[in-house]
Formats: sequence, structure tokens, C-alpha cells
Amino acid sequence: MEGLRDRVAQITAVGILVMGIPIVASFAVTDFQARLTWMGVSFFVAIAVGVVAIRSGHGLVGRLLILGAMAAQLLARAWLYGGVTSVPYTAWVVVVILGAILLGARVAWIATGVGVAAGLLLYRAEAVGALPAPLREDSAGTALRISSALFVIVGLLTWATVRRIEEGMVKLAGASEERRFLLERYRHRALHDPLTGLPNRDLFLDRVDQALMRGRRSEAADFAVVFFDLDRFKVINDSLGHATGDALLVELADRVKEVLRGADTVARLGGDEFTVLLHGVVDEAACRAAVSRILRVFDTPFRVGEHEISVKASAGIVLGDSGYRDALDILRDADIAMYAAKEQPLETITIFDPAMRREVHGLHALDNELRAALDADAFVPWFQPIVDLETREIVGVEALARWPHGGEVRSPAAFIPRAEETGLVRRLDRQIVAKACAAVAPRGELTLNVNLSAQQFLDPGLVDWLLGVLAETRLPARRLVVEVTESTLLGEFLSTRRAFARLREAGARIAIDDFGTGHSALSYLHRFELSCLKIDTSFVQERGPAGPGPICEAILSVADKLGIDKTAEGIETEAQRARLIELGCRVGQGFLFGRPAPIEDLF
Ligand code: C2E
Ligand code: CA
Ligand code: CA
Repeated sequence: MEGLRDRVAQITAVGILVMGIPIVASFAVTDFQARLTWMGVSFFVAIAVGVVAIRSGHGLVGRLLILGAMAAQLLARAWLYGGVTSVPYTAWVVVVILGAILLGARVAWIATGVGVAAGLLLYRAEAVGALPAPLREDSAGTALRISSALFVIVGLLTWATVRRIEEGMVKLAGASEERRFLLERYRHRALHDPLTGLPNRDLFLDRVDQALMRGRRSEAADFAVVFFDLDRFKVINDSLGHATGDALLVELADRVKEVLRGADTVARLGGDEFTVLLHGVVDEAACRAAVSRILRVFDTPFRVGEHEISVKASAGIVLGDSGYRDALDILRDADIAMYAAKEQPLETITIFDPAMRREVHGLHALDNELRAALDADAFVPWFQPIVDLETREIVGVEALARWPHGGEVRSPAAFIPRAEETGLVRRLDRQIVAKACAAVAPRGELTLNVNLSAQQFLDPGLVDWLLGVLAETRLPARRLVVEVTESTLLGEFLSTRRAFARLREAGARIAIDDFGTGHSALSYLHRFELSCLKIDTSFVQERGPAGPGPICEAILSVADKLGIDKTAEGIETEAQRARLIELGCRVGQGFLFGRPAPIEDLF
């Protein structure tokens, strides 16, 4: 009740202000033309204020105002002219306006058309003297009819275009510069990612919807949606910190924007997930070419502060002409295609095909199986001998994870990458380490190499846990070598160094795994006081079966200069073994000496 009374008061006040003053003013002047002008002014002002009221959320006030203005205008004119002839017009116009208000803008357009036609017909009838008797009058009457028709037209046009003049309305409403800026910023924020300034998911979906709509109208859609994220971004983020991860994403966004054409859109969906909408890609080949061009931004490492980070990305693509109706479906399938791309080590770009949907279900199933296996303590270490290259005597073993599962034994390639992505690798590593220590401890002076994922070093309890395992299994720390990859060294510098120092103090050694395949600087060897480097298989097999080449030689000499032990990996032929001995490498492992196997099979 209170609200209604307020509203009536509002309407009355505004009505008096916008219509009353000019109308009263029109009677203050005696000149007939001046009166008409004043009434015209009051009419337009009322319409304008009404439209503003509607746009700013006072729909009822605005509509009543417009309605009132029109009615008042017509009645005032009828009274001014003293003509009865206005009455049919008045009734007609009021009916039309009411209809437009109740039924919407389309009715207003139709009514406007009718108004124009009627006006023209009347005018013509008058001119040829065929006007019906009650309407036949003097020239002032004709002017009235025509102007009335015009008012209807103008009024209804205004009404019908209300929806399209939002921006103009902001001005009319008297939005200050500042408010307009805030409004713009608010709109921008709602549709953009705050970190990179790129369009967000909502805006992207909207653009894909538009592309779909255009495609439906033409023969075939010629757009593609690309989904990509960074491989192992989680590791970078966890090990280098979120600020570094963020800076990397910002830099990446800039790079991608630079290589896109104007009509294309790149958006950030969240995390390290990006999407691109490409226009004008006519076929698969064109699409692949365009996406390769985008992925080339990863060729140059990213500089963030003191870090130089190399990242790679995998991209999934959906071509727009595959009978999609919903942008969300396209996005989902592009995501699926990206996962498929990640699964294939040699493919960084994959075009969606419906069979892939099943594979993604497979990934979810894998996660569940991994968790169940961890709960069941199902992972076991197998051991690969590490030998003295000259005597072939086993001096140590490397523990490598295996997953006995339904009659077969799964290799790490089938689960370690996924375990790293989901963080499950932390529990997995620990199962392997604990079992490996227990298995190797009773075996004379054998050393044990274990692999620890970079993620382990984020856990401040790691060293205590490891020393606890050594104590429990009675494996002396001097017989333990912890293998880490370069991504570990990229991580939190101080805490990683501290963890290494504590392990060294206890007597353990740290080896850098797969040396030479990552992107760490040589200076890391020194800064982290590593004990050993493991020369990656690719250098041992640099010249195929014939054996190592100059790169391997260079790595070995660097290790010598720094006083670091070296172990060669992946030795498969006698020639490789002989050449390594020549180059001064004394320790190695590989199929030539033994494949990974359960501990009891080795001795
Ligand atoms: P890695 O640490 O570099 O382990 C060496 C890999 O090379 C092993 O593969 C081994 O079977 C294979 N290999 C050994 N000798 C030869 C050879 O002469 N020729 C060839 N072609 N390959 C050889 P595996 O067991 O499949 O392990 C793969 C990777 O999985 C490991 O690479 C390691 O990075 C990771 N991994 C294994 N176990 C664990 C674990 O417990 N924790 C973590 N975080 N990672 C693990
Ligand atoms: Ca290793
Ligand atoms: Ca290795």
C-alpha cells in the first residue's frame, strides 16, 4: 500500500513537472503557433523522461508517463481547435498506444505503419475532395489530422526503439562521466578475466553462440574452437609459487593475443585453461596450421623474474561444422580432444572425434583406480641394477614403480604422469620408497636409488619422513641416493636446498635425473651441491647403438670439473658401454645389464 501511494505521488510529481509546465506555458502565450510549439515540447520531453524511467527500472512510471503525454497532447489539441473531428483520432490513438504498451514493440511498429497509411489516405481523400462529411472541415482540421498522425508515428517510433538505445539512455539519465566509466568497468569486469584481461568463459561462450548462429544461416560454419592448457602447469605453480605462475599466464596471454588475427578471440577459462575461437578456417589442414602458429608462442621460454621457464601446451580442436547446437557442447568436446592430445606424446594438436569421449571416461576411471590402489598399498618397486661398467658388478639398484593390476604389471608411463597431475604421486612415491628401503636394506652394501617427484619437496615433513623410513628399515643413509628431476630444482630454492642439505648431513646423496633433457642451467649443479648426475638415455644413445657422442662427452667433462659422480642410463649395447668407459664414465645401467625386475629375480 505504502509503495503504491509512493508511486502515485511520484507519477503525479513527474507528470506535473514535465507536462504541466509547458502546457501551462502554452496558455500563457496567445499566439496559436506558439501554443502548438509549447505543447510539442511538453510532449517530447514527457516521452523522453518516460523512456528514461523505463530504462532505469521504473517501468510503470515510464509507461504511464508516455501514455499520459499522448492522451494529454491529443485532448489538449482537440480542445484548442474546438473540433469534434479530433475525437475519432483521439480514440484511435489511445487504443493503439494501449495496445503497444500491453503487447510490446512489434505492435507499435504495426500501429505506426497503420498510422502512416491512414494519414496519407486521409490527406489524399481531402485533396481530391472525397473526404466523408463528418471529417470534411477547414484547413486547420487537415493540419490537425496530419500532425496527429505524425505524433503517433514519432511517439511509437520512440517507443519501439527503446530497447536499442541503451547507451543513449545512460546519457539521457544524466550519468556523470564517472558513472559511465564505472558502468563500463563493471560490464568489462563481468566479461573478462581479471588476471590477463582476456575475455572470460561467459563472453567466449557468447561469441561461440554467435558463430554457431551465423553458421546455421549459411551453408557450413567456418570456425573452430581450440582448447589448450599448459602441460604440467601444476608442477610449475606448486614449485615456483603462484605469483610466478600468474606472471607466466599474463605473459602467455600477451603472446597469444599478438599472433591472433583481429576477428579471432582468445579467452581464459580459469587456471591455465585457454580457449581460442578461430574464424575463416575452411578445413582441418587450415585449422591445424592456425593452431600450430598459436602454439609456436611456446617455442621461446618464459622469463619470470630470475626464472626462465620452458612450457609446452597441448591443444584440442572442434571444427564448427559438426552439427553442434550449443556452445557448451563444443567447449566440452574441445576439452576432451585436448586430453587426448596430452595422452599422445608426439601429438600436441588433436581434432575432436566422438570416440574420444570414451577415453575421458577412461581418465576418470584411472583416477579412481589409482586411489584404490594407493589405499590398498598395491604399488611395488621393481629394481634395475646399476653396475660398475668395467667389472659389470652390481653396485646398486634403482627402484622403479610398478602396478600389478589384473594379471599384468603396469609401467610408470601408464600412471605416473596422471599421478603427477592429480597430486597422487606424493603418496605413490612414498609407498615405493618405503618398500624399496625394506627390500634393499638386508642386501650387503648395495646402494638404493629412489625417484622423488618435485611435488615432494613442497612438503616440509619430507626429510623427517624419509629419515624415519631409513631408521625403521635399518638402511644406512649413506646407501641412499635420492633422484630428482630438474623441475625439482626450479622449485622453492631455499626450502629445496635446505631439504638437500639435511639429507646430505644424514649421509644420503642427491642425483639429478635425466640430466640434459630439461632446461636447468649448469649452475644448478653447483648451487644445489648435487652428488651425482644421471646422463639421460638420449645422450648415451646419441649415435644409436654406436654409443655416446660429443654432447655426452661434454656432460661428462662438466661433471668431472665440478667433482660430481656420473651414472649413464639406457646402455643397451657393448659399443655404448665401451665408449662410456673410454670417456671416463664408470657407472651405468641399462638393458645390457638388466631390466627392472622384482628384487628376488636380480640375485
Ligand atoms: P627414470 O627414472 O629415468 O627411469 C629409467 C627408465 O628407463 C625406466 O623406465 C627403465 O625401465 C628404463 N630403462 C632402463 N634401462 C633402459 C634401457 O637400456 N633402454 C631403455 N630404452 N630404457 C631403459 P620405467 O621403469 O618405465 O620408468 C619410467 C619413469 O617413471 C622413470 O624414469 C621415472 O621418471 C618414473 N618413475 C618410476 N618409478 C617412479 C617412482 O617411484 N616415483 C616417481 N616419482 N617416478 C617414478
Ligand atoms: Ca630415475
Ligand atoms: Ca632417468
